[in-house]
Amino acid sequence: MSVCIKDLIQNMNLVIGCTVGCPYCYARNNVRRYHMTEDFSRPEFFPAKLRLMEKPRPQNFLLTGMSDLAGWKPEWREEVFAKIRENPQHQFLFLSKRPDLLDIRTDLDNVWFGVTVTRRAELWRIEALKKNVKARHYHATFEPLFDDPGAVDLSGLEWVVVGTMTGAQSRKVRTEPAWAHSLTEQACEHHIPVFWKEDLVPVMGEEAMVQELPEAFNHVLEEQRAWNSRKSK
Ligand code: SF4
Repeated sequence: MSVCIKDLIQNMNLVIGCTVGCPYCYARNNVRRYHMTEDFSRPEFFPAKLRLMEKPRPQNFLLTGMSDLAGWKPEWREEVFAKIRENPQHQFLFLSKRPDLLDIRTDLDNVWFGVTVTRRAELWRIEALKKNVKARHYHATFEPLFDDPGAVDLSGLEWVVVGTMTGAQSRKVRTEPAWAHSLTEQACEHHIPVFWKEDLVPVMGEEAMVQELPEAFNHVLEEQRAWNSRKSK
């Protein structure tokens, strides 16, 4: 049975707001609906949420569910990185569509930097990420896909995620099975784990679903299970 990625990796929205302006952005709609900030196009930092990192129970966190890392001010980033360093029990993921604007160097071993690619013309983002972010771990998410990414240089990546358009536009735009299979085969050649998001079940079929995680994320989930079983005794 396939799992929802949010059961494995939780959103911690330390920054809310984004200037990229994707027309299909679910975060913008949610922020407006629930009046989370005044203006989604002006990213805001919520440092009080950093205390969530202090929990000893390990978790995998996505820190850019309602923002793009390139929209974070450097001082926000430094404050977050300092807190991450104090909390090695967790794994942290960042995503960006503007890796050309990033300039980061870090030796943090529990931080994963990634780019989102939605079409072949955006494959440059993977190279730009590796050039502008000097870090220990890289990943890429292909979602939503508007065309076939074709041959992709996945070298240096440690995780590949594939998804599809959701919501109203999913009737017009969807990831074709051949695109998902091609990305998966290419990742396999590099021994990179691949995760098809649960939204692909209607496209690919439940039986075919591929949902692999990097070892570090699996380790966190194992630790969580151990915590839960200790708690229930
Ligand atoms: S990059 Fe992400 S958060 Fe920003 S507008 Fe696009 S979908 Fe929304």
